[in-house]
Amino acid sequence: MSEPVIDTSKMSEAKRAAFELTESSREGHWEYPTFAGALFMGELPLELVHPYPEHPEDIDERGRRFLDELERFLSGKVDPDRIDREGEIPEDVVDGLRALGAFGIKIPREYGGLGMKQQVYSRAMVLIGSYCGSLSALVSAHQSIGVPQPLLVFGTEEQKKKFLPRVAAGEISAFALTERGVGSDPARMETTAEPTADGKHFILNGEKIWCTNGTRAGLLVVMAKTPPKMVNGRSRDQVTAFIVEASTPGVEVTYRSRFMGLRALYNAVLRFTNVKVPRENILAEEGKGLRVALTTLNTGRITLPATCIGLGKRSLEMATRWANEREQWGAPIGKHAAIADKIARIASTTFAVESMTYLTSALVDRKKTDIRVEAAMAKMYGTEAAWHMVDEAMQVLGGRGYETADSLRGRGEKPIYIERAMRDARINRIFEGSTEIMHLFIAREAMDPHLKIAGEAMNGRLPWSRRLRSALKAARFYALWYPKTFLPAMVSTSGMDEALASHVRYAARTAKKLARGMFHAMVKRGPKLEREQMLLARFVDIGTELFAQVASATRAQALLKEGRDRGEVTALVEHFCANSRLRIEEAFRGVGKNTDRMGYRLAQSILAGSSTFLNEGIVHKELEEAVAAEARAEEKVPELARVRG
Ligand SMILES: Cc1cc2nc3c(=O)[nH]c(=O)nc-3n(C[C@H](O)[C@H](O)[C@H](O)COP(=O)(O)OP(=O)(O)OC[C@H]3O[C@@H](n4cnc5c(N)ncnc54)[C@H](O)[C@@H]3O)c2cc1C
Repeated sequence: MSEPVIDTSKMSEAKRAAFELTESSREGHWEYPTFAGALFMGELPLELVHPYPEHPEDIDERGRRFLDELERFLSGKVDPDRIDREGEIPEDVVDGLRALGAFGIKIPREYGGLGMKQQVYSRAMVLIGSYCGSLSALVSAHQSIGVPQPLLVFGTEEQKKKFLPRVAAGEISAFALTERGVGSDPARMETTAEPTADGKHFILNGEKIWCTNGTRAGLLVVMAKTPPKMVNGRSRDQVTAFIVEASTPGVEVTYRSRFMGLRALYNAVLRFTNVKVPRENILAEEGKGLRVALTTLNTGRITLPATCIGLGKRSLEMATRWANEREQWGAPIGKHAAIADKIARIASTTFAVESMTYLTSALVDRKKTDIRVEAAMAKMYGTEAAWHMVDEAMQVLGGRGYETADSLRGRGEKPIYIERAMRDARINRIFEGSTEIMHLFIAREAMDPHLKIAGEAMNGRLPWSRRLRSALKAARFYALWYPKTFLPAMVSTSGMDEALASHVRYAARTAKKLARGMFHAMVKRGPKLEREQMLLARFVDIGTELFAQVASATRAQALLKEGRDRGEVTALVEHFCANSRLRIEEAFRGVGKNTDRMGYRLAQSILAGSSTFLNEGIVHKELEEAVAAEARAEEKVPELARVRG
């Protein structure tokens, strides 16, 4: 294995370990071209996304029938308020989903699944996500991160034959990575898997938390540390993915966690005590566990924005109905500009998230484009957007938005589901890669071409001769590339509606500006750019807005071709793109002028214990109890004095 392309010599030991482990697990090779990744290099390869790769005929008769049946089943047999109230999904609902094949949507028919495309799966998740968050978590944790997805990508034929028919038939599966000390940082993993003397088994020991579906899963994908390997003279941690039968002696569910939303999540703390797992249950190879997790998530991540489309559509439906029917100050509230603005934003943002997600889903099915950046963008953008859309819808609905559906029903009013939607939506920004981690992930992928070209030159751990060679190579590349970022953007939009084409041309121009901006930041800050999270996040946000604009414009073009009303379609795109441009302008302004450093310094001084007067005037009981418990555990009583200020 070669040296990491990023200089880790100035990093703390813990950061370096996290960094190197993640770096060695990412897919270094780009087998297919990337649309969203190219934007950061100033290119807009329109041919990858236009004509919009999703067509109505992509979803065949079987797919349409399945989606219709699923919709009928949800509206006829599922009571999402009851599920939320009782914190349980009735067994007949799970059985109904099994009978529909909803636990094996993408699993090929030869293994007992429905054998449908990603596009059908995404639309199924829109349907479920629009109705019941707990149910969408059950179905998606099973299929997007549980056993089916990694098995389809990494499984041997033997493993597929053994496990896929079970999970397709509805034996529930789960994914266990997170531990008390492992959230976004897998290098801290403590669960171990030691090989037996004969090498035929591994003995698993440790504890996993927050394992969705864990309390009712028959099969688990478990990440564990296996013995380290020597890489470049240094011992490097290995993480391996195992398929574990939940019935194996030593596997215990020790706790069911409960949350703000997703009240019927079957989320477990799992304990593994001397659990014997056969070597043949390793997914991919020993030491490739994080690669399995990251690659699984590349596609798995599309599920969350799909459920967010459902949330956006339901928010729009509820807000629109109420804005028409509720009269205040002599007019329906939808006629007041402040409320009308919210309706417009929910509608055009839903259209954009839908366009990004369906486009990425269609690209997955075509298998000719690398979708890791697009999927991460759709996840990050969709989950943030859904939270804001639900919030705006709640504002439109006023007090009734804040009241629970049961309470509204109890006093004879129409139940509204926005309060539950808000509780369910919040977690989407945290799990399957938090927004902060998605920013880092996309930034890393965006920088990849630069790191491949100039990374060695900036790496202080490498010998000077190698750095010099790399610097010369980089100089040759940038002497041609940099001037090109000033040339007019060449993108052929012939045949496109002029209103839509103008957004594509704007995106092509702005991609060049983005690439220049990133290059300037790289030159100015060198290897330290890696630490400038706020700055990198702005670049990532600009790239994501551009992806959203192009996806919206090309999808709109496809809708026009299908005969949809031009006025309706272009109004959505115009509104979204105009607002997106404003956000882009602000982000560019923020690159040059911001409060990042000031904020960082302030935060560090607060973290170090300054400004204790800000703690005055509130009740400290909960914090005191928490610190006291910690102090008892660690015998650190003096901490209490500091909390009291
Ligand atoms: C309801 C629910 C279901 C879940 N389901 C599963 C599951 O099925 N399987 C599973 O394995 N896990 C699951 N998780 C775990 C989930 O994926 C983690 O919560 C998530 O990875 C974040 O980890 P953490 O909560 O420990 O946050 P931390 O990693 O402690 O992060 C805390 C905050 O710091 C930020 N942060 C962390 N590192 C950095 C950094 N380097 N730079 C900038 N910001 C950073 C994070 O974005 C976050 O805002 C679930 C969690 C919940 C709450």
